[in-house]
Amino acid sequence: MHEFAYHRPQSLAGAAALVSANPDAKLLAGGMTLIPTMKQRLAAPSDIVDLGGINDLVGITVSDREVTIGAMTPHAVVAASPIVQARIPALAHLASEIGDPAVRNRGTLGGSVANNDPAADYPAAVLGLGATIVTSAREIAADQFFLGLFETALQPDEIITAIRCPVPLAAGYAKFKAPASRYALVGAFVAKFADGVRVAVTGAGAGVFRVPAMEQALSQSFEPTSIASIKIDAAGLTSDIHAEADYRAHLVTVMAKRAVTAASR
Ligand SMILES: Cc1cc2nc3c(=O)[nH]c(=O)nc-3n(C[C@H](O)[C@H](O)[C@H](O)COP(=O)(O)OP(=O)(O)OC[C@H]3O[C@@H](n4cnc5c(N)ncnc54)[C@H](O)[C@@H]3O)c2cc1C
Repeated sequence: MHEFAYHRPQSLAGAAALVSANPDAKLLAGGMTLIPTMKQRLAAPSDIVDLGGINDLVGITVSDREVTIGAMTPHAVVAASPIVQARIPALAHLASEIGDPAVRNRGTLGGSVANNDPAADYPAAVLGLGATIVTSAREIAADQFFLGLFETALQPDEIITAIRCPVPLAAGYAKFKAPASRYALVGAFVAKFADGVRVAVTGAGAGVFRVPAMEQALSQSFEPTSIASIKIDAAGLTSDIHAEADYRAHLVTVMAKRAVTAASR
């Protein structure tokens, strides 16, 4: 690991000032991705700005229409939250299936969404729910946030503070896990709202994406059978040591059907 300066600001303004003043600084959340990346010397930030001292970034609140989750809230807290379990149980279920207990206790919602790993679970929920990413500078709709492989709309000095998730009428998440990491080989998040259904898929391609044909079919009839015949084109999907693109394409339909079943229970 290369040398770096370590900072632990106590306020969002302090963290924002540090990343603005140091263009090669990196924010640290739970360190689940950043620390291994630095140990392998794939990242060499001049400064680490640890968000762990900013209490305002942790916690879960609810209003009539939204559940708001602080960026530094660990996965285990989301999974165990009575608010999330009551209002968006699919999101609590998704969080409970991330990695292992150590990852769930250190990894954070903001770190996962900022990192935008193509196989991460949270991006499917954030896009599937049509959530809003709240940052130190602005609010970004999920549809404009995820730009591709490890790429987001965040500016280098922008800090995610919270994610605002609309409460759906029903939602479900199903993933086919890679056995070693439990990352999604393919995961599908389906959310039903009064004005239609959203379907977001992770793991299958270079980044999370929606499936309009499934959204239209499910908006007409929210049943697994409505999407059983919808095939996903394998062109552009990922082929790697874990699975070929055509297998992933097949899994998208299977996982989306299971997500609808889970949502309908
Ligand atoms: C063994 C293992 C198994 C895993 N399995 C899964 C899995 O099954 N499913 C899954 O979805 N994920 C999985 N993960 C990923 C994990 O859940 C974390 O979400 C992910 O590693 C990010 O970790 P972190 O929150 O600690 O962020 P960090 O590693 O601290 O940061 C990650 C990146 O996000 C940036 N960042 C962090 N917070 C913010 C913020 N608030 N605003 C802006 N940028 C920010 C950092 O600068 C850094 O670039 C796994 C990880 C490991 C190590």
